[in-house]
Amino acid sequence: MPLLNFQFHCQAQCSHSHARAGQWTTPHGVVETPRFMPVGTTATVKGVTPAQLVDTGAQMVLANTYHLHLQPGESIVAKAGGLHSFMQWSGPLLTDSGGFQVFSLSGLRKIQEDGVTFRSPRDGRTIHLTPEKSIEIQNQLGADVIMAFDECPPYPATREEVTAATDRTYRWLQRCIAAHQRSDQALFGIVQGGTFLDLRAKTAQSLVELDLPGYAIGGVSVGEPAAFIQAIVAATAPLLPVDKPRYLMGVGTYREMAQAIAAGIDLFDCVIPTRLARHGAVLSQGHRWNIKNAQYREDFTPLDDTCPCYTCQTFSRAYLNHLVRSREVLAYTLLSIHNITELVRFTQRIRASILDDRFTEEFAPYLQPDPLPSEEPFVSSLLQQS
Ligand SMILES: [Zn+2]
Repeated sequence: MPLLNFQFHCQAQCSHSHARAGQWTTPHGVVETPRFMPVGTTATVKGVTPAQLVDTGAQMVLANTYHLHLQPGESIVAKAGGLHSFMQWSGPLLTDSGGFQVFSLSGLRKIQEDGVTFRSPRDGRTIHLTPEKSIEIQNQLGADVIMAFDECPPYPATREEVTAATDRTYRWLQRCIAAHQRSDQALFGIVQGGTFLDLRAKTAQSLVELDLPGYAIGGVSVGEPAAFIQAIVAATAPLLPVDKPRYLMGVGTYREMAQAIAAGIDLFDCVIPTRLARHGAVLSQGHRWNIKNAQYREDFTPLDDTCPCYTCQTFSRAYLNHLVRSREVLAYTLLSIHNITELVRFTQRIRASILDDRFTEEFAPYLQPDPLPSEEPFVSSLLQQS
């Protein structure tokens, strides 16, 4: 099926790393990469209106197929005219396949070749999710990018377990491709392979042969040490085609994003900015700190005086400290606006540095890999293969 209105254009290539700055055209607008994408799990980025979200600099937003299938159900979203219209986000949207959430329900689910059976944590009903069903739901939701239904093995897992999951994910991908019905939605494949770099490489190669419109690296940030994520991404991202967008799923910390960009990754998503906001945690200039602390009670300066966001331009730390201590809903909104702006801005600053070919100098403090912890399970296999 020919794909309409998608094109990835590489604008600049870093001369000291695989980092690149790109312009990715989708049916709902252009995404300037590298770019952080906020997560709107149930068709809302928690506590933030679409207008506020535009002001954070976010260009593309993610929503979760699994959650939207359970509530309100894809047919209601389709009746509303699709996800863009339902949630009133006019920019590019991406839905995940639901695989990650289903596999997180260990104990509640049963995996077979056909698909996964699980009990809905909402109402206890039995749900059978297959690659075809995931694609059908995502076709109805109507995001610009949809993801293949994959099996995400836990960490740690044995080589045999990861091989079985990776092989099944490939067979499921072929079923996803056959089931996909819309030429205005780009179906991305997901490279799995756990912490086994040779399995990652083999999977990447077999996915590239399918000539998909984009590729993701999945199955990271599942409890493994940061050094593992860095090693997996560094080994895998350069194997993916240069003329297609590359997306690292579920990663949104400063160091992991900077190092992944150095490996050639373009897109990120993470719930971190809004989840941290719920606990009063602030991301600012590479650091994390808590606005609830007593030292901010009489601090009338902004959260970050270099930040252009509405929160920093309008309110003081003292006021935010008060809102958090009073458990006011507005605290959550204002901190989320700031934290999302901060992570989007971090990727925008990296993008600017790539365009000027200053990335590896300017972001050097973020680019030193973490040491591999020798006592972790399976570290020997990772080391042998890297
Ligand atoms: Zn701010």
